[in-house]
Amino acid sequence: MSDLWTRCNNCRRVLYKQDIVENLYVCPACDYHFRISAIERLQMLYDEGKYELYDQNILPLDPLKFVDTMSYKDRLEQAREKTGIPEAVLSTIGKMDGIEVLISAMDFAFMGGSMGSVVGEKITRALERAYNERIPIIIISCSGGARMQEGTLSLMQLMKTSAAIGRLEEVGVPFISVLTDPTTGGTTASYAMLGDINIAEPNALIGFAGPRVIEQTIKEKLPKGFQRSEFLLEHGMLDDVVERKNLKKYLIRALRLFLNQPQ
Ligand SMILES: [Zn+2]
Repeated sequence: MSDLWTRCNNCRRVLYKQDIVENLYVCPACDYHFRISAIERLQMLYDEGKYELYDQNILPLDPLKFVDTMSYKDRLEQAREKTGIPEAVLSTIGKMDGIEVLISAMDFAFMGGSMGSVVGEKITRALERAYNERIPIIIISCSGGARMQEGTLSLMQLMKTSAAIGRLEEVGVPFISVLTDPTTGGTTASYAMLGDINIAEPNALIGFAGPRVIEQTIKEKLPKGFQRSEFLLEHGMLDDVVERKNLKKYLIRALRLFLNQPQ
């Protein structure tokens, strides 16, 4: 197959790549939502695709001197080279339909979007900026959970980010959480589920532990569609499931409602 063609992961149809790109990386045949990078996401959401990055120079240390098949240091280096971004989340500010907004977007291609001390710190700083400057904040999650290479330091981020979200209520600044495929582990167990509204893209895998671990623990077969957006919506864990093509419009409408601005 040439570079111009690709196969849909879901319906297996062979498709012209450009048709998928022009359709916001959604399969034109079956509506399958392909995973996208943080940068692609930000370009889709901001007015004219323009935004400003901040907190780009906070980089993780390696306090545990962690080594699996590769040292953590090398793994970070490799992730940076592969993705061209310094960490698994980008903190940005810009405008959506003229409304000033902060968006923190996670990138799965960077070590599975794992949340280590720097991701937690950047998310917390973004929330603190929202608090201090009274700017609404959107976090787009795409993450396998806490980063094992930083052990318990990663787990501390759950408490830190949650506390920062708690403070937003004092000043009435809205926080909208967008869960994309996949959002699991410590990310689900902290900020991803703590939005004033929590919405997800169709068919996104969302959960804490994986289905196999749960089946082995409760010794029962799990129902069909378990841990997918639609199932979670049906069971009251999400406020809505929103197709990518409607996401920007949806977020603008929600922001205007929260900010009490005429639609
Ligand atoms: Zn398809």
